[in-house]
Amino acid sequence: MIIPSAADSKDSGHGITYWTAGAGCLRRDWFKRQPHEGLISLGGDRFNEAKCGTLLHKLFELYHGGQIPGPDVALEYQEGNENPEWAEALRLFKFYIKIVRPGSFGTMVGTERHFEHKGDKCLATIGVPWFSGRIDGEFRSPGLAECEAIYDEFKIDLAPNSLYYYDLKHHKAHSSTMVEECHDSLQAHSYMISGRVLRDEPVVGMLFIEVFRHKELRWRDPDPKKADSLVFVQVPYPDAGQAEVMRSHLEWCADMRSRYGDDHPNPARCYDWHRRCEWKDICDRKGAARG
Ligand code: SF4
Repeated sequence: MIIPSAADSKDSGHGITYWTAGAGCLRRDWFKRQPHEGLISLGGDRFNEAKCGTLLHKLFELYHGGQIPGPDVALEYQEGNENPEWAEALRLFKFYIKIVRPGSFGTMVGTERHFEHKGDKCLATIGVPWFSGRIDGEFRSPGLAECEAIYDEFKIDLAPNSLYYYDLKHHKAHSSTMVEECHDSLQAHSYMISGRVLRDEPVVGMLFIEVFRHKELRWRDPDPKKADSLVFVQVPYPDAGQAEVMRSHLEWCADMRSRYGDDHPNPARCYDWHRRCEWKDICDRKGAARG
């Protein structure tokens, strides 16, 4: 078995997160992008959600790319990977492969495909001069009869013989706005528009595969009554109004970056979600540009 490492994750550079940081705290985003061996430990010994998500993504990539055999193959813990994040990622992965097969939604076209666009057409379409990203995967839906079988099994209404992107996410808890958030997702809209307009790909929709793990870490306190769950949310290709919302917002975010600099602080965001910003101990929260 191939053991993924969190280091396998590659920063997509000028992607949706980079640009939308302009609407939050640019300095927070700047800190995250610095080499920071000493700083990463600021979170203490807490479970690292991001690391767990990265490992889970790598397992998904291998699975959908055909590199890990099916659900009947025991996946063993490996020496050197016995940390809580790896244990949790592996546990969720085992849950996922009981439900989703590598070809559950049709023929896999590719996984983890990097894209990058620059120039006037990118600016006019996406609203930023440089746009990159990484698509978790693409699949081509099967014929009508198989699509009906997919609907019966997963309640996903795919158009036959059509290209879809998918994106895998993992969360701690459901939110009441999850489906609406997916439908309004700037990531989904920008990826699909970039695919169709800038790459000439006939993509018709994007599928979010959301893995929810029970809040309580089950590697610590197993409770068979409390289950993980899997939710599929299908997002159609954006209409003209949604495309304009995406483009104008990214244009505004890009303007913030160029106007104030990549590390401009926003002290209004230091306690988002009732949590203290993880960089507050080393951030002076002042507006002077850093060297
Ligand atoms: S402490 Fe506040 S200003 Fe500094 S990076 Fe965090 S959110 Fe931004």
